[in-house]
Amino acid sequence: MSGHPPTAFLYQEHVNELFRQFQQTGDTETAALGMAIDGGEVFHVYLTEPRIHFSGQPCRATVRLHRGPAVREAEIPAGVRLVVDIGITGDDLTARGRIVLDAGGTREIDVKFVPVQGEMYVRAKGLVPTAALARKSVAVVGLGSGGSAIAVALAQSGIGRMVLVDRDRIEVGNVARHACGIGDLGRRKTNAVRDLVLGKNPDLDVVTADLDVVEDVPALQQAVDGVDLLVAATDSDRSRFMLNQYALDLRIPTVFGRVLSRACGGEVLRVRPFDGPCLACVYTTQFLAQRPREYSRLSEAREEAQAYVDPGDLEQQIQVGLASDIAPVANFMVKLALVELSRGAGGGLDSLDEDLRADFYVWANRREGVYASWPQMGFEFTKPAVLRWYGANVGRRADCGACHVPDPASVPDAAGFFG
Ligand SMILES: [Zn+2]
Repeated sequence: MSGHPPTAFLYQEHVNELFRQFQQTGDTETAALGMAIDGGEVFHVYLTEPRIHFSGQPCRATVRLHRGPAVREAEIPAGVRLVVDIGITGDDLTARGRIVLDAGGTREIDVKFVPVQGEMYVRAKGLVPTAALARKSVAVVGLGSGGSAIAVALAQSGIGRMVLVDRDRIEVGNVARHACGIGDLGRRKTNAVRDLVLGKNPDLDVVTADLDVVEDVPALQQAVDGVDLLVAATDSDRSRFMLNQYALDLRIPTVFGRVLSRACGGEVLRVRPFDGPCLACVYTTQFLAQRPREYSRLSEAREEAQAYVDPGDLEQQIQVGLASDIAPVANFMVKLALVELSRGAGGGLDSLDEDLRADFYVWANRREGVYASWPQMGFEFTKPAVLRWYGANVGRRADCGACHVPDPASVPDAAGFFG
């Protein structure tokens, strides 16, 4: 704390509200919640109930708006630890903060106003079509290590609305790989991730849906109604096939991702309903059998395993991957999602739309499992190697059980045809 005075941060939007009150009634004072962080080196002051997850030691604060060139000395109400005086002369505004010391008397502190709404993503202009993204709505289904990281990255890109879907709570075993930390233990993943994304983008409109994708069909349909894109980051094949059916029924573009056993690699599939392959076109029974997916729980592995599978082999399958091995897959899913959401809206992602022509992508973290026979990376660019993305040319399967039905939109309307 030496040298640098403590600083109180106030949110611009809260102060604006107080200013409107001041314009109507003159000098005004309001009780506020102060949160002392790092032993009182930093204070965050909330004039209304914060939307974000906050931390620190709570203390009573008061914020006062005065007319006049200088901030007026005024008595500090009993029990208040932090006072912010704001003096207003014409368009000029001066702020002065004080904290009440335990030993008596006060100490001057710095006051900073945090511009939040609309200001945080100004720097992303040109890179992404910010105005177009702000109107977009995405559902992230499955908030494990991959889904939570994807939700954060999408929030940071400045999308407007996010639906968070999961049925689980944060457990000790999740924390090492999850975007949320030990302080979120026991919380619903939806609520914990909501607080995380609001901390990155307070303008985001977040909706949470605690439900089981496989069991709660009507609830899921209601939750994802009207979204522009689905991100399917669930950890079971059953839930992925269920989401594939939603994507087709509701005609919502969907990005699927999955991590192979021990996160030796991953796969990402973009589904544009009836305009390219769906999940069932790619993941045939035979294909799935060749590429064992990662299980994070034994019960889950048992649920999907054939009866003859040895319990020891199941134990083997729940060895989970490292966060750093899941990150490339999550990151690529974000990229595909952003390209899909900003198609035709201009911005720096347009060239990527030309590059990402494939619907199915493969990544290998290590020469292990299905990638064991790959050559070492070395300096060779003509052979498949680890740590590179490969787009695979996969088309729609004519006998696909999920999407082989003719797309009604592609059948000419009789009246229109003859009329
Ligand atoms: Zn299909």
